[in-house]
Amino acid sequence: MDQAATAIKQITIVGGGTAGWMTAAALSRLIRPLGVRITLIESDAIGTVGVGEATLPHIRFFNERLGIDEAEFMKATQATIKLGIEFRNWGRIGDSYIHPFGDFGRNVGGVDFHQFWLRAHQAGKAGRIDDYSLPIVMSEAARFGPPSHDPRSVMSAFSYAYQMDATLYAKYLRGFSEANGVVRQEGRIVDVHRDGESGDISEVELESGDRIGGDLFFDCSGFRGLLIEGALEAGYDDWSDILPCNRAVALPCETIEPPIPYTRATAHQAGWQWRIPLQHRVGNGHVYCSDYISDDEAASVLLENIDGPACGDPRFLKFLTGKRRKQWDRNVVAVGLSAGFLEPLESTSIYLIQAAITNLVELFPHSGIRDADRDEFNTVMDLEYERVRDFLVLHYHATERDDSPFWNYVRTMPIPDSLKYKMDLFRDRGVVVKYKDGLFLDASWIAVYLGQRVVPQNFAPLAGAIPEDRLGPFMDDLRGLIRRTVDALPSHDAYLKQHCPAG
Ligand code: FAD
Repeated sequence: MDQAATAIKQITIVGGGTAGWMTAAALSRLIRPLGVRITLIESDAIGTVGVGEATLPHIRFFNERLGIDEAEFMKATQATIKLGIEFRNWGRIGDSYIHPFGDFGRNVGGVDFHQFWLRAHQAGKAGRIDDYSLPIVMSEAARFGPPSHDPRSVMSAFSYAYQMDATLYAKYLRGFSEANGVVRQEGRIVDVHRDGESGDISEVELESGDRIGGDLFFDCSGFRGLLIEGALEAGYDDWSDILPCNRAVALPCETIEPPIPYTRATAHQAGWQWRIPLQHRVGNGHVYCSDYISDDEAASVLLENIDGPACGDPRFLKFLTGKRRKQWDRNVVAVGLSAGFLEPLESTSIYLIQAAITNLVELFPHSGIRDADRDEFNTVMDLEYERVRDFLVLHYHATERDDSPFWNYVRTMPIPDSLKYKMDLFRDRGVVVKYKDGLFLDASWIAVYLGQRVVPQNFAPLAGAIPEDRLGPFMDDLRGLIRRTVDALPSHDAYLKQHCPAG
């Protein structure tokens, strides 16, 4: 039953990490004009998680909606361009492929390009599928130019994201939010008070004794989930049986070469290592499972595999993969790490923050919270998390690696039915389950399937739409066009220096 509707006049955001300040920035622009006051509480003594550098293209739309200037943002966050993620050693040791932010080739007559590629490849008339992806060819050449809005242009077939310093992003968004009327309150929350009748959160109490109330609270307090779990005990779905990594060690290093426009994820014996080049440094970290490797060994693996002088000491983090059972419970919406955590293999955390904010803005209950709003929000967020989960599990499960107990476990573990269904469809005739929007559309799945040796037995009969004698020239023309287009672009480094020089 719906609780008595209380109009939302005061929003209180608990936490000032990336999640807190992204929430504050969006609400200050989109919701505050409805006459709502917004307060954000953060504790300098507690600090933030301080990692989170690789993003997905959706962040551009978040920034655009807020009216943030791209060059100013890139300068403030020391950002570089990200065209995709290179995966090394995943299918087999020595393998490498790029998951690009953009399509492979060009669909013809409503038939997916990869079907023509499968047919041409089987007939020996096509090279690597990578050669038909503009963002992959750009990545490999370390060149960049912005996408075209003209759908006829080959430059329209991709998108891009950023590799950025998320701590600087939060700082930038703090300035933005405060300029838009958000009140920041420094202090440690020591108690959470609930309304005796409704059970809703009524106030949070600071160490100073001050109490701050709210009609709607956002829990952006990080892994601790101060409100959503600490006070409301919303529960947690533990997914560590299918995503067993539960630790990370992070260690940035100095930049010794111009930054490349993509992130790298290199698989190791009991996990994998990220490499994220920013303008001023390179972010590195080793994500691993503590059942198979000790913290000291994991740090040694990381140190052996960074390619510049280390900046500072290794920093260890612990996590439990999964999601909060209810991300919106009573009058608390969890955003960020308090809502759940899926390892950063596909850079999805900041995207999930954005998805929560976007959904909340669409459902914003300004005249009072209704059960239907909460249910809809939770349903949408559950789908988002499950979709990311399946995609991540694919990376571990679709492997031939049998060189360590970790890989033997993930290769043979039972996988969700939803993923098994998708893999079965692809293995047969290259069918990719279609999503209308959101994360990881066709090209993402195709890249990981093929990159990790999940190769369809056949192509779809519709791939016969191009006559036999035209197939080879069609593939060659496309590859040539992409190559020539990329060769004419500036280097990524030159693009950065021209468009967003670091301060
Ligand atoms: P936090 O940064 O932990 O912020 C919590 C806030 O709550 C802080 O301001 C803290 O002061 C405040 N707080 C907590 N308790 C109290 C209290 N009692 N009183 C007052 N204030 C309090 N994401 C990506 O998108 N890309 C990546 O490449 C990526 N890499 C990652 C690598 C690792 C190893 C990890 C662990 C995460 C990574 N993430 C990545 C996730 C990303 O770091 C987080 O999603 C993001 O930083 C958001 O964190 P947060 O704001 O939810 O929490």
